[in-house]
Amino acid sequence: ALIVRHHVRSSRRWVKTAEILRELEEKCATPNTKLKQIADAMTVEMHAGLASEGGSKLKMLVSYVDNLPTGDEEGVYYALDLGGTNFRVLRVQLAGKSGIKSQEFAEVSIPPQLMIGTSEELFDYIAAELAKFVADEGDTFHLPPGRQRELGFTFSFPVMQLSIDSGTLMRWTKGFSIQDMVGQDVVAELTRAMKGQGVDMRVSALVNDTVGTLAGGRYDNKDVVIAVILGTGSNAAYVERAQAIPKWHGPTPKSGEMVINMEWGNFRSSLLPLTEYDHALDVESLNPGEQIFEKMISGMYLGELLRRVLYRMAEEAALFGDIVPRNLKTPFILRTPEMSAMHHDTTPDLVVVANKLKDILEISNTSLKTRKIVVKLCNIITTRGARLAASGILGILKKLGKDVFRDGETPKTVIAMDGGLYEHYTEYSKCLENTVYELVGDELSDSIKLVHSNDGSGIGAALLAASHSRYIEVDGL
Ligand code: BGC
Ligand code: MG
Repeated sequence: ALIVRHHVRSSRRWVKTAEILRELEEKCATPNTKLKQIADAMTVEMHAGLASEGGSKLKMLVSYVDNLPTGDEEGVYYALDLGGTNFRVLRVQLAGKSGIKSQEFAEVSIPPQLMIGTSEELFDYIAAELAKFVADEGDTFHLPPGRQRELGFTFSFPVMQLSIDSGTLMRWTKGFSIQDMVGQDVVAELTRAMKGQGVDMRVSALVNDTVGTLAGGRYDNKDVVIAVILGTGSNAAYVERAQAIPKWHGPTPKSGEMVINMEWGNFRSSLLPLTEYDHALDVESLNPGEQIFEKMISGMYLGELLRRVLYRMAEEAALFGDIVPRNLKTPFILRTPEMSAMHHDTTPDLVVVANKLKDILEISNTSLKTRKIVVKLCNIITTRGARLAASGILGILKKLGKDVFRDGETPKTVIAMDGGLYEHYTEYSKCLENTVYELVGDELSDSIKLVHSNDGSGIGAALLAASHSRYIEVDGL
């Protein structure tokens, strides 16, 4: 009788598990027709965001970058890249046509308590690291006498730019929440902190990481017109015609162009395939109601979505036995890199999955069947994210009129991609790329290209610091 009862219980468990799985699969479906509709909705919002400030959930921020690197940039410049889990300081020696002569960098992870503390603490910490970096530099990097060091500051949050070298923080995203900083000029804050640390440096360009990546990408390839970041957060920037930005009342740039930071992470639409897990994640997040697109596609959230589904399976289907494993209740315990490792497990017994479940969630003795379900869940969540990101790219291509094949001419459109998720989660980036090609069709598959712009955002910021140098006249650039 005991065995029979056990059998009944066990088969009920699988039935319920299968039901939750099927429901998730259905809700997360992203057929091409739907992706095309989402792309259209993205294009509509792009127009609205360009028409007036606050005209759309898509902020479509004017970056004040109206000239991308030409390859003639020269001199030693610094960059500071702040935005995800790490921040980086970098020094680049640009040698005009011969390219980048040398570069050095230091990477430091941001202590989590600083992400939710005060702006003073965060910026003092950053400036102190910058001071160390400068103190350590050898004699190879001497600037001409009397010349101040110049820095490109990559700050990867929505900023209302006031000029190329100033701007106020609109709101935090990702794991950051420092209330006294909202509405403040981030350059003023950094400048104050640098002074305090005795760092004699001027911020000559303030840029979003997407804008930096676009600049870095363009330096390598003149066909780059779009940049997409898929990392902790997600966003895109692209080159827009100044004429197509009704809300821009400044002088018409000589180039006739302006780089727009879309802040696409805040896109939302009733077309998005949202699930109960997304709603719960959003409600419990630091920024409820915001960054809905980002919460479906970026690295900070994919692992957390997986945890939420597993939790429901543990509770309602007893997937891991009669007791719900305690660690499964901890938000963000399952990080996307671990999810990626499980998803890419090629061992026949799925030992990587078994080990991750054991190490992170303290769930041991999982059956192969259970592990297979975990891999399936990784696949469903990641496929949805990657395909939605692809639809965002299609939206930009449509806005630029580059989604249709024109006979006779085949202008190249290159998209510079970066971010840890794109770089390390192969299933994600493969799916993203395939989906872009599926959506644009075969005719365009030769003219549209995605390239990985490795650390383009840092180098791009240094390049923009160079082209906005106060010494530009002196150098005769
Ligand atoms: C921020 C963007 C940033 C993106 C990628 C988002 O959360 O709002 O400004 O570009 O993350 O780092
Ligand atoms: Mg990188």
